[in-house]
Amino acid sequence: MRRTRTVLTTVATVATAVALMTTAAVAAAAPRGARQAVHPTQRAATISSAPAVVHSPRPRRHKRTKVIMPVHRKAGLAPGTATAPMTYHGGRLMTAPAHVYLIWYGDWSASAAPAVLGDLLEGLGGSAYARTNATFTDRAGNHVTSDIRLAGSTKVMAKHGARLSDAGVRRQVASAIARGALPSDTDGIYVVATSADVRETSGFGSRYCGWHAHTSLKGADLKYVFVGDPSRQAPRTCAAPVASTPNADRGADAIASTLVHEIDETLTDPDLDGWYDRYYNENGDKCAWTYGPTYPSATGATANIDFAGRDFLVQRNWVVSPSQGCAMSG
Ligand SMILES: [Zn+2]
Repeated sequence: MRRTRTVLTTVATVATAVALMTTAAVAAAAPRGARQAVHPTQRAATISSAPAVVHSPRPRRHKRTKVIMPVHRKAGLAPGTATAPMTYHGGRLMTAPAHVYLIWYGDWSASAAPAVLGDLLEGLGGSAYARTNATFTDRAGNHVTSDIRLAGSTKVMAKHGARLSDAGVRRQVASAIARGALPSDTDGIYVVATSADVRETSGFGSRYCGWHAHTSLKGADLKYVFVGDPSRQAPRTCAAPVASTPNADRGADAIASTLVHEIDETLTDPDLDGWYDRYYNENGDKCAWTYGPTYPSATGATANIDFAGRDFLVQRNWVVSPSQGCAMSG
């Protein structure tokens, strides 16, 4: 069964922001046996420390067994809804140390992303930022892990301009495991990253900037993420609106924030029955495209956090204690 829902997103200080998603298109593209939640695109946004996401005043009734698929529509503000608390829906959370596996799909030879994201993941584990996720607990009181590490990676060559469907993203995960490049790991987060020339056909850049899903593979519940280099296809909808970026690679810097968004959500809602609010927004969604205080990096770029000695501009994450709201540390 499939659940649809409507979510309106905008930036609090700019009544015009926003992206368009259609439920039917995303639902139709979802691979069988996989469930998916998307990271919204943004348009015409300014950096603001104000809560960015507002929501439809009339959500559909939640039914626990169905898919979560955010839909973003051009809309004005719906006052009051941005503060909707997140609640726990009883599902399993990622409480054991999490292992990130990167699948580099396409041509990354000219990109700084492998080095930049490697450092990001090295610095993320155990950081104050990662502890934002540890504010979330399961029924037994176990905290979501803040121990996140890069546990493996593999490269997949593709024709220039290759296309990849949602089912194709899932197949890349299955294929990497089948050929022994990566292990089958229920504590894993498999990240399929597509290079700037590769098109994810269900709406990368127009409907979403990334998404996460889970699937059963030979009896193992595996969590996986799609992120793409938006520097050619979606330089405005999937990247922060800043003059220069901390690592001087717009694609890599944009992916950094989207990747953190999807990791945050996978940890706290791995099977789409964990933590989300009454509008089905997960923690990353609630703070998407907001950054809190920023500082100029050594090169004058806009940054807000240091991971492993490298500056980044990554979105804030929702915390549920001591009070609910967007934060850079937990
Ligand atoms: Zn999201």
